[in-house]
Amino acid sequence: MILVLGGAGYIGSHMLKLLRETGESHLVFDNFEEGHREALLGSPYVQGDLRNRDDLRKLFADHPDIDVVMHFAAYIAVGESVEQPGKYFTNNTTAVIGLLEEMRAAGIGKFVFSSTAAIFGEPHYVPIDEAHPKDPTSPYGDSKLMVERILKAFDVAHGFKSVCLRYFNAAGADPENRIGEDHHPETHLIPVAILAAMGKKPSLKVFGTDYDTPDGTCVRDYIHVLDLAQAHLLAVKHLRAGGDSRQYNLGNGQGFTVRQVIDAVEHATGLKVPNEEAPRRAGDPAKLIASSDRIRADWGWNPQYGDLKVIVEHAWNWHKTHPEGYA
Ligand code: UDP
Repeated sequence: MILVLGGAGYIGSHMLKLLRETGESHLVFDNFEEGHREALLGSPYVQGDLRNRDDLRKLFADHPDIDVVMHFAAYIAVGESVEQPGKYFTNNTTAVIGLLEEMRAAGIGKFVFSSTAAIFGEPHYVPIDEAHPKDPTSPYGDSKLMVERILKAFDVAHGFKSVCLRYFNAAGADPENRIGEDHHPETHLIPVAILAAMGKKPSLKVFGTDYDTPDGTCVRDYIHVLDLAQAHLLAVKHLRAGGDSRQYNLGNGQGFTVRQVIDAVEHATGLKVPNEEAPRRAGDPAKLIASSDRIRADWGWNPQYGDLKVIVEHAWNWHKTHPEGYA
């Protein structure tokens, strides 16, 4: 059985959809601090906190059939991590060490970890492949890179096998439109732009217009949340077949500036995105574009929704029909 930590969150809930569709036995563990019960859509869950070793111990004792753990239960806001590093290192790093120890105690040695493009920092070259130097510009990126390093040490010491999936910018929503992105507060560009267009948020602040990019705004590689989820299924298959530890970058290999994303949102919604220039946001690298050649070659991963237009349309469908999110 697959344990899905943070299954009630944005990416976790899309993972659950694939697990239900493929008939994979699974269990969610979530504290519902950020996640939504409504996003589980029938997937079984246990409420508990990753930072609480007793909760984890009980979870593994009660469910001895768990053989793989997926981890989606992290804080994810780059800007907030600069202001509150302790919050990020405690949850995203320290709690994961406790989790790994509890997994070991329970005899579980397979782990799929949600890592991030933020581990690379300012790119030395794009697209960024797996060999690119790792030098995060934010505590968020540091908190994830530390776990990648801890996982390496656990493999050497204990034969603990993991797959680290480094997400670039997760976006979009389930095309069937039952689940989508609903963060409080919302900080991610595509939903913020949509909510601003809908009049649900004030004018979008464009963080930094003097970067060394085609129009001065940051470049990111947006990847559909279901394409990310698909990679996790491949990772589970690999680990269950006795595969070794791996790290993969996940993106579409194409970068879009903040202004291009605003244009795409205006096109999809037919609405204007009120926006204004604002200072750079701390911790933001200028340009993040993935090379995902390795996971394509090794596992045949092939994104189904690689087009930014489609990603934005799916996000728009969700927000249009759920203007208050899950509430
Ligand atoms: N961004 C922006 N205004 C916003 C939110 C984001 O200009 O209200 C920019 C942000 O500076 C970054 C890009 O959009 O360059 C993507 O940011 P997001 O927070 O969506 O993802 P991140 O790259 O931090 O994971």
